[in-house]
Amino acid sequence: MKRCPHCEYSGRPHLGPAWLLWLALLIWLVPLGFLSMGFWPFLLLPSVAISAWAVMDVRPVCPQCGQRWKACASPGE
Ligand SMILES: [Zn+2]
Repeated sequence: MKRCPHCEYSGRPHLGPAWLLWLALLIWLVPLGFLSMGFWPFLLLPSVAISAWAVMDVRPVCPQCGQRWKACASPGE
C-alpha cells in the first residue's frame, strides 16, 4: 500500500500540476504553426523552456497535504 510520508494519507497520489503539462503541449502549437506556414517559429524558446519546466515540475503529489509523493520503491528491507 502506498502511503504519504508526510500526513499518513494512503491511496493514489495526484499528478500535479496537470495544467502545466497541458500548457507545455498547447504552446507548441504556436511555433509549429508558424513553422508550417514558412515563418520563423515564434515562441520556440519559451516552448522549450515550459516543456523542460513541466518535465521537472510535474510529479505525483499527495492530494491531502500537497507534498511531493515519494514514489521510490525501497529495494528490500
Ligand atoms: Zn500527504
